[in-house]
Amino acid sequence: MKCIICKFGETNAGKVMVTLHRREATIIIKGVPAEICDNCGEYYLSDEITE
Ligand SMILES: [Zn+2]
Repeated sequence: MKCIICKFGETNAGKVMVTLHRREATIIIKGVPAEICDNCGEYYLSDEITE
């Protein structure tokens, strides 16, 4: 899909490291499947991953 941040790059399936901030903890999840922009590096997680 087209990247909505830079409106130029195309996204490709890959794995990213996601950092979640909670009240008293920071949770780091590695190897999360996502679509990654090949231009700006922005990534998009699917809705089910975000939940
Ligand atoms: Zn982009």
